[in-house]
Amino acid sequence: MNAIEESVAPMATFDVERIRRDFPVLQERVRGKELIYLDNAATTQKPLTVAYALQHYYTSENANIHRGVHLLSQQATFSYERARGRVGQFLNAAEPGEIVFLRGATEAVNLVAHGYGRQHVGPGDEVIVSQMEHHSNIVPWQVLCEEKGATLRVAPINDAGELLLEEYEGLLSERTKIVAVTHASNALGTVNPVQEMTAMAHKFGAVMLVDGAQGVPHMSVDVREIGCDFYVFSGHKLFAPTGIGVLYGKKDLLNAMPPWETGGGMIQRVSFEQGTTYADVPMRFEAGTPHIAGAIGLAAAIDYVNAIGPAVIAEYEDELLRYVTEQLEDVEGITLIGTAKEKVGVVSFVMDDAHPHDIGTILDAEGIAVRAGHHCAQPLMQFYNVPATVRASLAFYNTRAEMDALVTGIRKVREVFK
Ligand code: PMP
Repeated sequence: MNAIEESVAPMATFDVERIRRDFPVLQERVRGKELIYLDNAATTQKPLTVAYALQHYYTSENANIHRGVHLLSQQATFSYERARGRVGQFLNAAEPGEIVFLRGATEAVNLVAHGYGRQHVGPGDEVIVSQMEHHSNIVPWQVLCEEKGATLRVAPINDAGELLLEEYEGLLSERTKIVAVTHASNALGTVNPVQEMTAMAHKFGAVMLVDGAQGVPHMSVDVREIGCDFYVFSGHKLFAPTGIGVLYGKKDLLNAMPPWETGGGMIQRVSFEQGTTYADVPMRFEAGTPHIAGAIGLAAAIDYVNAIGPAVIAEYEDELLRYVTEQLEDVEGITLIGTAKEKVGVVSFVMDDAHPHDIGTILDAEGIAVRAGHHCAQPLMQFYNVPATVRASLAFYNTRAEMDALVTGIRKVREVFK
């Protein structure tokens, strides 16, 4: 087996050191220290297989897709469509045609807000989001509601950062047309009971969009088991390139949606006299030349994740999360933000007398990359009455030793600000 074959062959036992060798950037030194990369919720690092997939495409297969009769175009088309199939299998979609390639989660939410929202939401109607949403899953709905004279309702959370299911159910009514909720919060780590929430939404005839940007990197996702109508995610948070993302939609809903962007690639026939007819989904939503290499890179990333196993990843990260959380609970002056029972690997906190940006800067000097800020979740920061938090977010290539280094770094910061 060569190195690539080895890294996508099913892993018999979870071996974090072997995995780390597949991510060259993790061997980099920053500020004279070993890099400890804990900003995975912002974007993940890429394994060699993804880099090789891009290299192979650009050096041996590069051509535009769908339109060429020549061999390279056929090969590129095959790889692009094969990638669609991979994503479909990964989410357990009913068919590859339910997978639309877009730029990322943000573009996917916007497409649904335009394509589905503008057809189905009218004056007096309601859209529900939760208090913990990323701006990407708030603003498109806010704009839609403003435009249509509809109301945006917010499902509340408790102090631990858990969605209040009964209160959410109480918000649902015949007026509710869309529920849009995150699978896992990027700022808190909270995992939402999206399957139950979907069933509740469906009772009232509302459709459910799940923002899976922080779902797919951490757990196995089955859109048919969840029952959701739309599921969105970004490739770059799943070890794949930036600029590629996915909208999963139930076929009948996608079929009923009008195009959003128009141009080449999404038409059936264009005529000055008779106007334009559109291609079937998913092509209808992929106007122009898509990110072919990105889709191929995403398929390589999915193969990599599947080789380790999403369930194995979830178990490993959960163990790391518990380990670091227990230690941080013991650091004086620290308040953890987001202590839900069901969490993915995100630890957010604030510290007495120290601004999150100062904490982030001091940790950076130790080679530890964390994020300090509002995490594009300002309504959530307002709920906790903090301007920002420090967030360490985990991936399967992180280690216990890195968790120890983080805690030591935070203790150092505490000494400075005591
Ligand atoms: N939703 C969540 C929960 C996220 O964490 C992010 C990215 N931080 C997004 C949506 C938006 O993703 P992108 O910027 O890749 O479109």
